[in-house]
Amino acid sequence: MLLECIRSIGWKCNITRLITRLKEVIRMAAGKVPVKAVLIDLSGTLHVEDTAIPGAVDALKRLRHSNIPIKFVTNTTKESRRCLYERLIGLGFELKEGEIWSSLWAAQDLLRSRNLQPMLMVDDAALEDFSGLTDFKEEEQNAVVIGLAPNMFNYSQLNKAFRLLLNGAPLIAIHYGRYYKRSDGLALGPGPFVRGLEYAADCRSEVVGKPSSAFFQSALGDTDPAHAVMIGDDVRDDIGGAQALGMRGFLVQTGKYRPGDESRISPSPAVVCSHFPEAVDILLKECAQSGGDL
Ligand SMILES: [Mg+2]
Repeated sequence: MLLECIRSIGWKCNITRLITRLKEVIRMAAGKVPVKAVLIDLSGTLHVEDTAIPGAVDALKRLRHSNIPIKFVTNTTKESRRCLYERLIGLGFELKEGEIWSSLWAAQDLLRSRNLQPMLMVDDAALEDFSGLTDFKEEEQNAVVIGLAPNMFNYSQLNKAFRLLLNGAPLIAIHYGRYYKRSDGLALGPGPFVRGLEYAADCRSEVVGKPSSAFFQSALGDTDPAHAVMIGDDVRDDIGGAQALGMRGFLVQTGKYRPGDESRISPSPAVVCSHFPEAVDILLKECAQSGGDL
């Protein structure tokens, strides 16, 4: 381990850097990795529709006192970032609009960077994030973007998308979620419809939201994933995706969580806890144990 440590910073290192790196390696070996960023899922973790998870508003305040950088990473495709921000503020959460990292935002960024003219299968409330990308005539469309759009999941619209894909248009999935939690129970996500189009057109989609590693890394910026924690209720998209990048995943048993979810991925979640407030308590306890260097 000592040799690996020295190699990782080069033989011509100074003694201070060597000691700092050694401390870090020892902490990692002991499971006490300083946390330098926390990514938090929204739907099912902080709230379910217009109801906050009990204790979540205060827990977020406690976490903010630790001064760890926080980002809110969401696959929500039903609402623009502004709508989402206003909903969360209305529920009492303290956050800034720019802290919300949404898969819708990542999708519009991808479309602009590749100069694509999409057929948009997203909810009307999400169109605001696609300003300038909504007015193409059918014959000009050369990409299919699919989010959660219940009003568009009918034979006519899906067939239109299918024909575009047959002509070589890329299929861009805002995410691949199988289902999500509504106040009246679990409901189908866009994943089954993406999979149906892939099957029919014999193609593969590009997924821009969770669990894509690129999505998590873009939210983290320059932070090493080994020093980051993801808190979420989706064992595959939140926890599996984050852990594949090297983050630690904290699975909360609220929202879409179902008994046994923790055994659906390998490796299993780093931490399983009842709800977001408990996840925050565990993080803050780690902070105290590591001498405040969280
Ligand atoms: Mg969720």
